[in-house]
Amino acid sequence: MQQIAVIGAGTMGNGIAHVFAQNGFKVNLIDVSAPALEKALQTIDKNLERQLTKGTITEEIRQQTLQQITTCTDIPNGVRSADLVVEAATENTDLKLKIFRELDQHAPAGAILATNTSSISITKIAAVTQRPDKVIGMHFMNPVPVMKLVEIINGYATDKAVTAVIVALSEQLGKVPCVVNDYPGFVANRILMPMINEAIYTLYEGVAGVAEIDTVMKLGMAHPMGPLQLADFIGLDVCLSIMRVLQDGFGNPKYAPCPLLVNMVTAGYLGAKTGEGFYKYEKGSKELVVSGRFSS
Ligand code: NAD
Repeated sequence: MQQIAVIGAGTMGNGIAHVFAQNGFKVNLIDVSAPALEKALQTIDKNLERQLTKGTITEEIRQQTLQQITTCTDIPNGVRSADLVVEAATENTDLKLKIFRELDQHAPAGAILATNTSSISITKIAAVTQRPDKVIGMHFMNPVPVMKLVEIINGYATDKAVTAVIVALSEQLGKVPCVVNDYPGFVANRILMPMINEAIYTLYEGVAGVAEIDTVMKLGMAHPMGPLQLADFIGLDVCLSIMRVLQDGFGNPKYAPCPLLVNMVTAGYLGAKTGEGFYKYEKGSKELVVSGRFSS
C-alpha cells in the first residue's frame, strides 16, 4: 500500500493527509474547493512547524512530509492510482453516497474505500458500491496528528482480510486501532453523545451552570475537557446530527436531543467555529469565558 487519496481537506482531511504523509505514504488530497486545499496545506505546514519546535520530528521529516502531498480538485483523476481512499468530506448522507458511487467507478478495482464518517452507516455507504467487501469505517479522532485512536468499523459485508489490512495500516501510522461493528454511533459517539446531551439537559433543567457541569466532569471523572466545552469544540450542529442518527437508528426516546441543543443550532450558535456556544470565543484568546446567555 503506497498511494492514499484523501477526499475532503477540512478539519479531519488535512490531519489524515498529514499523518499518512509523515509515515511515508504518497497522499493526494482532494477537495471540491481550491481555497480549502490551500488552507489545508497551510494548516499541515503550521502543525509540522509545531512538531519541529517540540522536537517530535526532524527538519528532514518535515520536508519529506510536505513533499509527499499533492492536491487536486477532481475525484476521478485524483483516485485513479489509489490503493486506499479515505473519505473525509462533509457529514451528509446523500453527499457521501454520491462520492462513494464516484469512487467505486474511478478507483482501481482492488482499492479499499474507507470513510471517516462519525455516524453514517458504513453498510449503507458500502451498498451503493460494487465492492461492499472493500468498504470500511476508519474513524480518526480530532486533532488527527495528536489523537491515538482509530475506531475501525466493519460494515455488514466488510471482508475480514480488509479489516486486517486497515488494522495493520493504523498501527503503521502510530495509532491504536479498535475494531467495532456498524450500529448507530458505532462505539465512540454512541457513548459520548448521550453524555453530552445529558450535560445539556442538566444545564437546561437548571441543575447547575456551564462552569459547574464542566468542572464536575473534569475534576470528578478526570476528563481533560468538560462535556459542554467538548460540545462547543465538536460543533453543536454535529452533536445534534449524531443524536438524530441515534434517535432514528434505535427508535428509543432516550436519544431525543435536548430542546436547548436544538434551539442553539437553529439560532446558529454552533460553538467555537461560530464564536459562541456554551462559551464565548475571542480570536487569539485562550481564556474560557462562559457565554453571557448562561452566566448569572
Ligand atoms: P469540514 O467541514 O471541516 O470539511 C469537509 C470538507 O469536505 C470541506 O473542505 C468541503 O469543501 C469538502 N467537500 C464537500 N463536498 C466534497 C466533495 N464532493 N468532494 C470533495 N470534498 C468535498 O468537515 P470535518 O470536520 O473535517 O469532517 C469530515 C468528516 O469527518 C465528516 O464525515 C465528519 O463526521 C468526520 N469527523 C469529524 C470530526 C471532527 O471533530 N470534526 C471527528 C471525527 C470524524
